[in-house]
Amino acid sequence: MQRIAIVGGGQAGLPLAFGLLDQGYEVTVVTNRTPEDIRQGKVMSSQCMFDNSLQVERDLGINNWEAECPPVEGIGFTVPHPAEPGAKVIDWRARLERPAQAVDQRLKMPAWLEQVEARGGKLLIQDAGIAELEALADSHDLVILAAGKGEVVKLFERDAARSPFDKPQRSLALTYVHGLKPTAEHSQVSFNLIPGVGEYFVFPALTLSGPCDIMVFEGVPGGALDFWRDVKTPQEHLAASKRFLTQYLPWEADRAAQAELTDDKGILAGAFAPTVRKPVLTLPSGRLVFGLGDAVATNDPITGQGSNNATKAAKVYLDAIVAHGSQPYTREWMEATFEQFWDYARWVVQWTNSLLTPPPPHILGLLGAAGQSPSLASTIANGFNHPPRYFPWWADAQACDALVNEHLAQPVAA
Ligand SMILES: Cc1cc2nc3c(=O)[nH]c(=O)nc-3n(C[C@H](O)[C@H](O)[C@H](O)COP(=O)(O)OP(=O)(O)OC[C@H]3O[C@@H](n4cnc5c(N)ncnc54)[C@H](O)[C@@H]3O)c2cc1C
Repeated sequence: MQRIAIVGGGQAGLPLAFGLLDQGYEVTVVTNRTPEDIRQGKVMSSQCMFDNSLQVERDLGINNWEAECPPVEGIGFTVPHPAEPGAKVIDWRARLERPAQAVDQRLKMPAWLEQVEARGGKLLIQDAGIAELEALADSHDLVILAAGKGEVVKLFERDAARSPFDKPQRSLALTYVHGLKPTAEHSQVSFNLIPGVGEYFVFPALTLSGPCDIMVFEGVPGGALDFWRDVKTPQEHLAASKRFLTQYLPWEADRAAQAELTDDKGILAGAFAPTVRKPVLTLPSGRLVFGLGDAVATNDPITGQGSNNATKAAKVYLDAIVAHGSQPYTREWMEATFEQFWDYARWVVQWTNSLLTPPPPHILGLLGAAGQSPSLASTIANGFNHPPRYFPWWADAQACDALVNEHLAQPVAA
């Protein structure tokens, strides 16, 4: 059977490893952090995953936390009034057809890493650079680099045509808390957009100490939500999170009044530029390495798609590897496999990037109209599970107006 090495034990690499092990491949997973390093480390993501991605995990039998993790049952969208504190200009919510879930990667990845050997794979803890990739390429039929935002992925050439930004578009922060007041109607991602300042969204999740909520802050660079570099301690981070909500989103501050950090490592602050890279790396020896997940397509977290993309990419690669049989893994095969994934991911990237710049009038009209049309709100909310559904209307003002009018013409159920 063929031997496949996967470098990077994260949301992209591990589902692929399990899928390949199920099919009888010899799989080596190389990753640079032990399960204990991850468990003891800082949070890495808010990792909200929608049903199609969760289904990939169910099919692979790696949905270990499904019963325990609180469901995210809907999506709410709010824009505060620019001049009247405490008032809202847009405010709607809709149920997801099937719930989303967010399992702290500090819980998920160590358990998955510990399953690799139990399911017949080989696990190597190693920080891979060119020399290690060469050694793996020498001893395996295919080497996949799924090292997320690790330095090593910069070896892949940036694809300028697919990467409109060369700088971070948001200053990011996460605050994992216990004690947040739940939303009234159903659990949800409560998404708040403050024009010119940034976004705040919050949703239930599962962390090391049980159910929690994850607060995600996305600050426009240089704006009022771009202050995390001055925050020094976990308690200052929590206080800064609450202070911001009190000033800009009082309804969210009210929910967070009693919130406490889940743990001192339940915080994160940083920034990165959304980047698409060319998927094939040629090593000095001439051997090839194939990129997967964030390594080759990193999205800003504003739409919560990175883990979803990583999982869906793993599924595309798994099917392509199995369909390829025992043929050699050529550059052409790698590029064609990536393009197959890109047929899906290009819509995710376009939609996500569109939210990083001020919205055009048709998008403002669409988001406002969803407040009058539950069916339109539902269409927008459920697109998170499969963002290609947003097109063509997300990018085409005429198609968008037609969609809005069609929904506004529908009678609202009593
Ligand atoms: C603030 C924030 C919020 C987010 N929120 C969401 C969300 O709500 N929903 C969502 O879907 N996505 C979200 N994401 C994105 C999501 O976390 C990532 O897209 C996803 O984890 C990518 O999976 P991956 O396997 O490609 O990379 P990772 O999960 O990062 O895994 C990469 C692995 O490679 C290892 N590694 C790195 N370098 C090396 C090396 N040289 N050698 C060996 N191993 C190496 C790392 O230790 C890691 O284990 C968020 C991200 C951030 C930063």
